[in-house]
Amino acid sequence: MNVLLTVPHDACPPLQPPKSHLCDTSAKEFAEMISSELKGSKLLISDIHRDSTQLASDGLPGSDQNRPNSRPTDFLNEFKSAITPDTIVLDIHSFPYESTFSQSFHPDIVILDPAAGIDELSKFLTDFLNSKHWKVALVPAASINYIVKYARSINAQASLIEISEAITRATRSQIAKHVSQAVREITAKKWKRI
Ligand SMILES: [Zn+2]
Repeated sequence: MNVLLTVPHDACPPLQPPKSHLCDTSAKEFAEMISSELKGSKLLISDIHRDSTQLASDGLPGSDQNRPNSRPTDFLNEFKSAITPDTIVLDIHSFPYESTFSQSFHPDIVILDPAAGIDELSKFLTDFLNSKHWKVALVPAASINYIVKYARSINAQASLIEISEAITRATRSQIAKHVSQAVREITAKKWKRI
């Protein structure tokens, strides 16, 4: 079993209108923290931003790398060639304090899942992080989140994790350790998919 971490929204476009959230400012750091705890894990970070009205680093229009109609890029090609049915994919994002996730409470982590309540990996991660007393929300997601959707289509396990941009680096680091611990429990086969 191998672990693949993806960060599709790391790159920021040159212009960012006020109140826009065109890039995930804490996702890369969080993914690196998790990756450093998981020996042999692979980390893929997109350098293509998601605003199609501005040019990206390769001189072509930006393209959200987490959509079914994403423009093919090195990031997506590498993702597809790295993944097998034996892979656990953690698709890492971050959300700002003002996010709609925060209307009722301010979670530390949000797990977005089109199959919320059914998918075993998302449920395990949610329960595990809850047991460590983090504020976790498991939220139903649109199935347009391509990375998780593609991974599941080839029978890999996948979850989309959003980390708060409003918490400190030290807190993020502690959460990353717990996410890694959860993944280690899965890979050690203390937990397996039904
Ligand atoms: Zn994102």
